[in-house]
Amino acid sequence: MRARYLLYILLAAGMLCACGGKTSHNEVVVNRRPFSGDSAYQYVAAQMDFGPRVPGTEEHDSCVLWLTETLRRFGADVEIQEGTMPDYAGEPQPIRNIVAHIGQDSTAKRILLCAHFDCRPWCDEDEEASWYQPVPGANDGASGVAILLEVARQLQLKPLQRGIDIVLFDCEDMGTPSFLKDLDRQDTWCLGSQLWSKDASLRGRYEWGMLLDMVGAPGATFYREYYSEQQASAYVEKVWHTASVLGYDNYFCDRQAGAIVDDHFYVARDLKIPVLDIIHIDPATGAFPAWWHTPNDDMQQIDKATLQAVGEVVMSVL
Ligand SMILES: [Zn+2]
Repeated sequence: MRARYLLYILLAAGMLCACGGKTSHNEVVVNRRPFSGDSAYQYVAAQMDFGPRVPGTEEHDSCVLWLTETLRRFGADVEIQEGTMPDYAGEPQPIRNIVAHIGQDSTAKRILLCAHFDCRPWCDEDEEASWYQPVPGANDGASGVAILLEVARQLQLKPLQRGIDIVLFDCEDMGTPSFLKDLDRQDTWCLGSQLWSKDASLRGRYEWGMLLDMVGAPGATFYREYYSEQQASAYVEKVWHTASVLGYDNYFCDRQAGAIVDDHFYVARDLKIPVLDIIHIDPATGAFPAWWHTPNDDMQQIDKATLQAVGEVVMSVL
């Protein structure tokens, strides 16, 4: 399970305080750009309407189609990267990453925005009766995707000078079930981003990137995750500073957190793209929230205000 990767114990004293407070960043002009938390909420609901988007199911197929059509409707040039990666049992797992190109090609490097759209087949953080039930994935999957769909819509209304690529990764959440520990192998999570990161032609194409994962819960808290700071510290500074200027330092806590092996880890390791992760960590436990990988990751755990905060920060940083 991914909580295992929280190698660096969160500084309990700091984590238990509410976030906020003064920060000592340099003065940087921040322009608030429009973003609709209402639209993003509808895009979470639309994904949830398919049912759990578990790879290999009709729900997943239908969602791939809808995501592709929606991004095209917002003016993106969309392609699907197909391939396989070995799953937790060593079997080939089919993968479909959705790649949307927005904005003209210029000499400037592009910016990468990513999230995973698949749902975990197992509620293995719940009691045993739920283990073989899929995670609904309102936060863990749909929330990050929904914000990026709304970003695409906003960029169609008011284009940027920069090229932006939105990559929706498949099969992030197929890591070895915690109840099958004996089968555990290396690198069973993040299969979609591992596949994408094998494409050496992508090297040098991006200046930097942001990954959104579990970004919709009421009162969500986002700390400066360890690998993000290691591989993209200047951009972490920029994002958290922007959040503070926009008045969202109750969500974006200016404190360090543990190391999480998420999609950004493989993209940075294999393609050398500095990517940061905006991911919800519970300050009380220093781990993922209680609904994580349980049947409770549903629309009850989605708050428009959180989607609005994260979306506005992403838009303003761009
Ligand atoms: Zn997950």
